[in-house]
Amino acid sequence: MASKTPESLDALMSQLEKLPGIGPRSAGRLAHHLLRVPASEAIALADAIRTVRERIRPCSQCRAPSESDPCAICSDETRDRSVLLVVETPRDLNAVEAAGSYGGLYFVLGARLSPLEGVDARALELGSLATRLAGDEVREVCIGTNPDLEGDGTALAIIDAVAGVPRAEPARVTRLARGLPTGGQIEYQNASVIADAFEGRRSVLDTP
Ligand SMILES: [Zn+2]
Repeated sequence: MASKTPESLDALMSQLEKLPGIGPRSAGRLAHHLLRVPASEAIALADAIRTVRERIRPCSQCRAPSESDPCAICSDETRDRSVLLVVETPRDLNAVEAAGSYGGLYFVLGARLSPLEGVDARALELGSLATRLAGDEVREVCIGTNPDLEGDGTALAIIDAVAGVPRAEPARVTRLARGLPTGGQIEYQNASVIADAFEGRRSVLDTP
């Protein structure tokens, strides 16, 4: 039986359906919404998608999406070039930048290891990371993967990649602390958070 939906509308719906979190119903709703709004608004969306795809490329140094190469962070001479924070996604980079407490450089892996979803080490930009670490500019690689199973596996892959880079002096490898959240209360934390907090405890009084 032929579909009653016009061909072009059908095509739009199937494109929308490919977006994360969008099922057939949402795709239908969005497509009809785009038909209802003023044409200029719908075209502006299409133009924004086209522009972003034409202008944005991964930065050759950190792999973060950028309109310039190197990106604004990598070309900022005031940043500490000896520390490289390795994160899973550009969204993680944005969150750390928004916090404003880190002044070093970044490296974006672009993915996380997830054997269950078929994502293996080839999906990570580990080759580019190794290239980035050649030379002795970076003294410390700080692993900023998420504190969960996939993030832990990804951290191991990063450690392997860093260890495989031939350097005059090996880089120090650290990982962001995990444990009790600021403002949290111990009685409400689960067992793994408390276990992490013990593992990550640090000295607060130096004994002579
Ligand atoms: Zn960059």
